[in-house]
Amino acid sequence: METAKSKTVRERKLKGKVVFDIQKCKGCELCITACKEGGLKLSEKLNSKGYRYIIANNDLCTGCINCALVCPDAVITVYRTDGKKKKIDVNTDDKKKEKDIISSILKEIE
Ligand code: SF4
Ligand code: SF4
Repeated sequence: METAKSKTVRERKLKGKVVFDIQKCKGCELCITACKEGGLKLSEKLNSKGYRYIIANNDLCTGCINCALVCPDAVITVYRTDGKKKKIDVNTDDKKKEKDIISSILKEIE
């Protein structure tokens, strides 16, 4: 039997998706500062010019386009989605399911 304590339901509105031309990114971090959702970070890897490049967690993106506006090198394209709600159930008693959800989120931001 599931209890209210053992289960957390998070609801997200997917409103935006950002795509990068990583070879043009210089890792200046202006877009990271501009993103109020905290959805951007620098990669651990380097691009062909030797810079760490930007990667996104699109689950956090609202499509506000702030990142694209501040980027001096036109690296970022923002797509707005339909704002459809997506429910993610996280049952903290089911460690395998929780691990799978975390893996899928991490895979998306790599
Ligand atoms: S569009 Fe807005 S919310 Fe999405 S990554 Fe860029 S600054 Fe962040
Ligand atoms: S603002 Fe542009 S060049 Fe600077 S880190 Fe972000 S995507 Fe890269």
